[in-house]
Formats: sequence, C-alpha cells, structure tokens
Amino acid sequence: MLRNALLWASTNPFLAERLPRSRAVQRATRRFLPGERLEDALGEAARLQEGGAGTTVTLLGENVTTPVEADGVVTHYLHVLEAVRAAGLNTELSVKLTQLGLEQDVEATRQRLEHVVRACDPGSLVWVDMESSAYVDRTLEVFRGVREDHQNVGMCLQSYLRRTQEDLDKLLPLQPAIRLVKGAYKEPPEVAFPRKADVDQSFLRLSSTLLRARKEGRVGRPVIATHDQRMVAEANRMAHELGVGKDAYEIAMLYGIQTAEQERLVRNGYQLRILVSYGTHWFPWYMRRLAERPANVWFVVKQLIG
Ligand SMILES: Cc1cc2nc3c(=O)[nH]c(=O)nc-3n(C[C@H](O)[C@H](O)[C@H](O)COP(=O)(O)OP(=O)(O)OC[C@H]3O[C@@H](n4cnc5c(N)ncnc54)[C@H](O)[C@@H]3O)c2cc1C
Repeated sequence: MLRNALLWASTNPFLAERLPRSRAVQRATRRFLPGERLEDALGEAARLQEGGAGTTVTLLGENVTTPVEADGVVTHYLHVLEAVRAAGLNTELSVKLTQLGLEQDVEATRQRLEHVVRACDPGSLVWVDMESSAYVDRTLEVFRGVREDHQNVGMCLQSYLRRTQEDLDKLLPLQPAIRLVKGAYKEPPEVAFPRKADVDQSFLRLSSTLLRARKEGRVGRPVIATHDQRMVAEANRMAHELGVGKDAYEIAMLYGIQTAEQERLVRNGYQLRILVSYGTHWFPWYMRRLAERPANVWFVVKQLIG
C-alpha cells in the first residue's frame, strides 16, 4: 500500500512542484543526495574514490518536453565529462533517455546520446538508465543504434520485467556492457512480476546469464546493481565458481544505501561503483527511493519533526 502511494506520489505534478520547496524535506534528502550541484556530486566522487570505489553520476530529471531542454542536457553532460577528466576521477555517467527527448523524437535522442558517448574517454562508459515499461522498446532501439558504432555505452536492464531474459539474449551479440537492477517503477502484473520472490529469482537467473557470457567473452562489463546482500553474495559465488575474476565485473549501489556493506565489498577486493545523483529535479527519484524501503519514510518523518 505504502509503496503504491509513494510511486503514485512520484508521478504527481502538484507534489513535485510544492514539496521540494520545503527546507525540512530538502534536509531529509541529504542521506541519498550529497547536494543539488554537480560540484557536490564530484566532491563526493573524489571522497569515495579515496575509499576505493568508482562512481557513476547522474543529473536528476526525466521527461523533458522540448528539444531545447534535451540539447541543454547534452551540453551539461559534455561539461561533466570535462570536469571528470580534469579531476582525474573514476566516474562514469548514467542518463535517462526521456531527458534526451525520447518522448518526442527517437532519432534525435539517438543522436544526442551518440554525441555524449563520442565525448567519453575510451575505457569509460555512458550508461543508459531503464525507465518505465512504456519506454523499453524505444530505449533498446536507441541503445542498439549507438552501440553498433561505439564501445563505450552500457545498458541497464530490470529483472522485474517478464521480457528481460529475451531482451538480454537479443542484446548479447552486441557484446554489451549491462547493468542489472530489479526495477523501480510501478508496473502492471502482465508486464512485471508482482511477487518479490519472482523478481529475485529472475535477478539471479539474469546474473548467471551475464556472468557466463562474461566468461565466454560475449558481454562487456556486467554490473550487478543491488543492495540486496543475498543477490550480491550469490553473484559473487557464481562468479567465483565460473572463474570470473573480481576485476571482470562490478557491483553497484546507490549513494547512501548499505554503506557498511559497500565498505566491506571494497575491503574484500570487489569492484564497487556507487551511483551519485544531483540536480534540482529530485522529487520523483526520491519518492522511488522511499518506496523501495518503507523504513525510509520514518527516517524522513524524524527529520521533518526533529
Ligand atoms: C547503481 C544502480 C542503478 C540503478 N538504475 C536503475 C535504472 O536505470 N532503472 C530502474 O528502474 N532502477 C534502477 N535502480 C534501482 C533498482 O531498480 C531498485 O529499485 C533498487 O536498487 C532497490 O532494489 P534492490 O535491488 O536494492 O533490492 P530490494 O529487494 O528492494 O532491497 C534489498 C535490501 O536493500 C536495502 N534497500 C533497498 N533499497 C533501499 C533504499 N532505498 N533505502 C534503504 N535501503 C534500501 C534494504 O535493506 C532492502 O531490504 C538502480 C539501482 C542501482 C543500485
């Protein structure tokens, strides 16, 4: 119930307009968001790098409505790549295609993504986020279009979608870099597994496909992106059994979630990448984070009254 309410709130324009103005709400977001400015995110990226973790940064925002806005996002990301290079950071980008104009024009979105990918250093990746199921076909089409000509673009896939195993099998001939997540949106049961046990089982099956494909050189970098310690332990066990080295895949988590586990993984020699978000359009994203763990709502309430 609470998850559904929070996911509903994440798409409500009235709340998106008003709640972020509240200072108390802004204070409560600091656990997951070091700040609204790029400098805040890169400052945290430098600190995390000293602790042994790589990072991915993402400018919050989705569903732009004009080409001018989408072009502005491209310009911003080109600036981010320069700032990352100048600071010598192990930091990659993750972008939402609806922020690059996916709802308006698929081909223009492909061109914008390609523009950013071209500016990315070899060996580094520009990741494409996966958004709600209405965008999956168009997102994969854009990814394919760019991946055919460029190595340094990666794709996120969601284990809660019934279609994902088939999508992954179709993508493998491209030797793609894949980030596997469970999925964060409200989806109907025809499209996504409603039971957590099925989402988890699908996650493990897809992790196995990815790690096997890595062993056979059929996939670029596999990224196991979850805070679920059972999923992480199982993926590490599978990799070990297959003889896939710790440097041949990554584990990824969100900034501020399971930090003790993040530190433990680094200490034990695993490659960890932490996704750090920034920007002023944090409301829908923040609501999705609360929906993932109802206990977070009590954390916010405490901040609001404390
Ligand atoms: C690097 C990265 C990139 C992502 N990119 C995308 C994307 O492109 N598209 C997309 O749909 N989703 C994305 N997600 C979000 C993802 O789909 C899940 O919603 C999110 O990771 C929570 O699921 P989980 O795998 O951690 O497992 P869950 O089963 O939800 O959680 C497992 C345990 O982790 C802890 N936990 C999980 N979430 C939180 C939280 N918010 N606060 C505190 N503790 C928590 C809890 O202890 C929980 O019991 C991304 C996640 C990561 C880590």
